[in-house]
Amino acid sequence: MTDAPSYGFDTLQIHAGARPDPATGARQVPIYQTTAYVFRDAEHAAALFNLQEVGYIYSRLTNPTVAALQERMATLEGGAGAVCCSSGHAAQIMALFPLMGPGLNVVVSTRLYGGSITQFSQTIKRFGWSATFVDFDDMEAVAAAIDENTRAIFCESIANPGGYVTDLDAAAKVANDAGLPLIVDNTSATPYLCRPIDHGATLVVHSMTKFLTGNGTVTGGCVVDSGNFDWSASGKFPSLSEPEPAYHGLKFHETFGPLAFTFHGIAIGLRDLGMTLNPQAAHYTLMGIETLSLRMQRHVENAEKVAGWLESHPAVEAVTYAGLPSSPSHEKMTRICPKGAGGLFTVALKSGYEGCVKFVDSLELFSHVANLGDTRSLVIHSASTTHRQLTEDQQVAAGAAPNVVRISIGIEDADDLIRDLDQALNASA
Ligand SMILES: *Cc1c(COP(=O)(O)O)cnc(C)c1O
Repeated sequence: MTDAPSYGFDTLQIHAGARPDPATGARQVPIYQTTAYVFRDAEHAAALFNLQEVGYIYSRLTNPTVAALQERMATLEGGAGAVCCSSGHAAQIMALFPLMGPGLNVVVSTRLYGGSITQFSQTIKRFGWSATFVDFDDMEAVAAAIDENTRAIFCESIANPGGYVTDLDAAAKVANDAGLPLIVDNTSATPYLCRPIDHGATLVVHSMTKFLTGNGTVTGGCVVDSGNFDWSASGKFPSLSEPEPAYHGLKFHETFGPLAFTFHGIAIGLRDLGMTLNPQAAHYTLMGIETLSLRMQRHVENAEKVAGWLESHPAVEAVTYAGLPSSPSHEKMTRICPKGAGGLFTVALKSGYEGCVKFVDSLELFSHVANLGDTRSLVIHSASTTHRQLTEDQQVAAGAAPNVVRISIGIEDADDLIRDLDQALNASA
């Protein structure tokens, strides 16, 4: 399926990128478990290595199973191309790598996945990059945080774990006015609930580990490029606009146009950083995406039911879920992700840190794990686990205060989930 824009989401999630195997007719995408690919002749090999011809050389760069997933992700997000990699965190580095350099910075939302806050506030400093954290409810502050060394703006569509929705249209306007790309982590929403490119995003990153794969089996990441950004306009993105010494002076933007970022991600990013997705993991993720819309509908339906029930429980101080009419993010949700706010929310308990510990230990159906977006319901006490490396101020800003538990609602019977939560809340109070 090459020209498929007229198909609906439910059709594309099954068919995009997946042609019958040309060698065998296999209907399902085969797992191409191979490291290398035979060249037709020496001339063919040279053309591939010069990027004059597109094809398969070595699986650190490209693999047919991974390529099918890349095409599916680009199609579902409405992008020009996509690069898959080994995890969501790898995708974040892969997204920033062509844009950044020593002394340059990225302006990021304070409301991010805990691991992303650590990656941006600590680890990227080793590359000479830095991140400026800003509250994305205050777009004037976001604009004010941009300086001449800023190369991107980064936020999550639905922010994990605080049940917060970012006004992507407003963020895209700030980015556009500054001539910078907006990068959106769309992990919690998935392209079924939100398509950031439709709201002006340049790049979309994913942890495919979560709802896209859906069953908690493998880790994976993806960077989707809208193909809409002019990398040559400002002179700020020389990796994409200037001659590349590793390819005989080839200019990626001039040569590949809307596919410049994608080609750079494969030819330089995967080649030299090596954060490659393996074909087995790509296969699990392709299988998961086939049922994405059905699962997301049930995740949302269950989350709305359970969050509404929790809100009126006497042991509960507050529920933070953009799908609840009481949420400050609810209006933004109706614009940014009108089909629902996903399956993830947080609950603050009146019984504090100790009550949260007792609560997670008392749950039977919910698993206490550091994951989300599984078919089964999961729970984690962020302050003592995923957000443990953060200061209390950072924890509160990220929606992970000490009395807060993050809940990822699965696709089980909502009544069974409510019964389990009820007994655990009573045990914790
Ligand atoms: C899990 C997650 C990540 C990191 O992804 P990994 O696949 O675990 O590396 C990044 N962003 C969000 C929103 C996540 O939920």
